[in-house]
Amino acid sequence: MHAQDIFNQTATAFSFEFFPPKTPEAAESLYASMRELEALKPHFVSITYGAGGSTRDLTHDLVVKVKQETTLEPVPHLTCVCHSEAEINAILERYARAGIGNILALGGDVPKALAGHDRARDAFRYAADLVRHIRRFNERYAKGLHPDPRGFGIGVAGYPEGHPTTPNRVRELDLLKAKIEAGADYICTQLFFDNRDFYDFRDRCSLVGVTVPIVAGIMPITSLKGMMGMADMALGCRFPAPLMRAVNRTGGDPDSVRRVGIHWATEQCRDLLDHRVRGLHFYTLNRSTATREIYLNLGVKDSRGPVSGIGGGVWTTPA
Ligand code: FAD
Repeated sequence: MHAQDIFNQTATAFSFEFFPPKTPEAAESLYASMRELEALKPHFVSITYGAGGSTRDLTHDLVVKVKQETTLEPVPHLTCVCHSEAEINAILERYARAGIGNILALGGDVPKALAGHDRARDAFRYAADLVRHIRRFNERYAKGLHPDPRGFGIGVAGYPEGHPTTPNRVRELDLLKAKIEAGADYICTQLFFDNRDFYDFRDRCSLVGVTVPIVAGIMPITSLKGMMGMADMALGCRFPAPLMRAVNRTGGDPDSVRRVGIHWATEQCRDLLDHRVRGLHFYTLNRSTATREIYLNLGVKDSRGPVSGIGGGVWTTPA
């Protein structure tokens, strides 16, 4: 389903993120998680895109498998880095034929293994260039190739705490706006732990005229090691002092760290829902337990139920 239709039909859309598994065991574990998370009826699931050729094929294969073998709506990530225009077109054609509704268009980073890679060889430099290209693809080729005559819906990344390579936060908003003006339909954010950062980002977007839905990225802390990994993965991501104090109080006990992390993420979600967030995106790390626990804590069994604005909930008097 096209992103515009998803966000028009729901007050809050729910989505989960997966990455392509590299071993048969990891694949088994991912499919088990997917089956468990499928029961929560997310509006879509997004699938990350790596930098090397073989991991890229894993993404394409996983996206098509999810589309064909589950009820989940896969949103593949696609990056500019290390791609020619012909390669991007081949991927778009494959996704169009498979009936993929939406793509998350990203700049991507040059992987460490390809440190000398010359970006001038890439067809597209920034995510905005890729968004523009997907739009052109939609206009020229979607009819006949894609089941939706509008072609792909397009998402882009946003950074409530700022992107590490753009220290000028005013210019950064202009660059984000350029992605929307190029044709993006929604923004999905980097993970964050202080909702005030998200609300301020949302306000700043509104001030510069960015009005597309903004989906909040949530990643519960489930271990100390994972927390360190997040700090590395989402560069610039801030752990607020109350969260650090709460983790500190556990003395490092694994079960207690996990409880603190799930509780924090649950409270983030509850508060975001109270503040009419347009979407909650869970970075699952291919596991289902933490996300399911947050749903349980929120009292939600079905992403398409009252929590999404569909159905009246318990306070509606039956007609
Ligand atoms: P862009 O929007 O192109 O921005 C990149 C940087 O360049 C920013 O600092 C921006 O401000 C700046 N910039 C943009 N336009 C211009 C311009 N015209 N002139 C000068 N500077 C400019 N990475 C992956 O490899 N695979 C994934 O699957 C993946 N999924 C992600 C999902 C989400 C929700 C998020 C938030 C990030 C994801 N990333 C992924 C990481 C992302 O690719 C990196 O953070 C990358 O550095 C920036 O990507 P972007 O799409 O924000 O790029």
